[in-house]
Amino acid sequence: MTYYEPKPHKKFFEKTLEDYRDSIWGCARCNWCQNHWAWNVKSAEYSEICPAFHEFRIFPYAGMGKMHIARALLEGDFDYEDAPEVVKFLYTCTTCGACELNCQRLQDKEPLQVNETLRARLVKDGIGPMPEHRNLLKSVKNYDNPWMQPRTQRDRWARKIKIKNIEKEPAETLFFVGCTVAFDNTQWHVAQNTATILLGAGVDLGMLGTKEVCCGSPVARIGDRDTFFDLAQRNIDMLNKTGAKEIVTFCPGCFKALSHDYAEVPDVPRLQAAVYHSSQYFDRLITEGKLTFSRPVNKRVTWHDPCHMGRHCGIYDEPRRVLEAIPGINLVEMERIKDQSWCCGGGGGARTAFMDFAQKTAAKRIGEAKKTGAEAIVTSCPFCEQNIGDALNAMNDEMEIFDLTDIMIKAMYSREV
Ligand code: SF4
Ligand code: SF4
Repeated sequence: MTYYEPKPHKKFFEKTLEDYRDSIWGCARCNWCQNHWAWNVKSAEYSEICPAFHEFRIFPYAGMGKMHIARALLEGDFDYEDAPEVVKFLYTCTTCGACELNCQRLQDKEPLQVNETLRARLVKDGIGPMPEHRNLLKSVKNYDNPWMQPRTQRDRWARKIKIKNIEKEPAETLFFVGCTVAFDNTQWHVAQNTATILLGAGVDLGMLGTKEVCCGSPVARIGDRDTFFDLAQRNIDMLNKTGAKEIVTFCPGCFKALSHDYAEVPDVPRLQAAVYHSSQYFDRLITEGKLTFSRPVNKRVTWHDPCHMGRHCGIYDEPRRVLEAIPGINLVEMERIKDQSWCCGGGGGARTAFMDFAQKTAAKRIGEAKKTGAEAIVTSCPFCEQNIGDALNAMNDEMEIFDLTDIMIKAMYSREV
């Protein structure tokens, strides 16, 4: 090849390692993928940004190491038998995207895309994913959700809420609930709060009820592309058929799948509706004067940016504006925020396969949050809430964790948070 040879345009999910060959060889081995962006660093303690490298301390766990593994596989310098632990190197990555973002600022390479493509290669070769992921994949194939739950239970959270079933009655806006908040009764509060807030603001809201299926985000991140393509096709067909003009979702995994990942799947139609994360939608309703908060919530809180909402999709300011619109809330910031935020440790299948690592990563975030003097962490992701919440319980720490909607509901209806 020459430098002048035009490269074919491909969607992300049709790319193989071959498509990253130049990028992989171009890795400068500069280590920026492990570090907090230099202009933002305030202390040595919080100067790193890759949770996997911070915990395991050898390069194959970092973005740079993924480039090296990919290069060796591509060039035939490495076989799986040489280092069976390669599966662990690839799957401890939380897919937080910090390496990708910092590398792109300086070197314009794609260490996370390379890692996700490596995972797809491992799944194809029968080496990946981790054994703990296999039940999740089986469940998605058999039950359309990762939690081994019967489809009939998907709308139980909504029994006391008057929300339209969009298959029976048309609605302007569709609430895409997501598997975790629909099936896990400790997370029902988020689905119930979200629907209550939207209906209260006069939104013409419907849902798919028991017909909703997994967005496919967990299987995409794990590297099972065939199953993800099938779910993307089914979701696009079903969502387009509803005629809804807008889709609102709370789970950052669902949001990224619907708003970004489906467009990167080959040979599927476009999703017709505009897709919003619930915090974006709330922010808009506040600006339009349709959502107001009359009761003070006197709390000092800090915002934890979920990676798939922040770094992956660029939503940083909207949830902060929502919090700042609530009387009594004192928002204080951690050292690593927005595109330099520290991951909770729960994403990319890491919590499923490496609970101990996920919990240690969450504990590091809690330590950072405590330095702000905040009484509570507020976030908007079921995995962040679970992972940080479990770590708080294990530490027997009095700090609390809330979903954004918990605080909003308190400010609107004076319910307990
Ligand atoms: S992946 Fe990017 S940031 Fe990391 S070492 Fe290579 S060039 Fe540097
Ligand atoms: S995505 Fe996050 S956890 Fe994975 S290698 Fe990059 S910085 Fe590390």
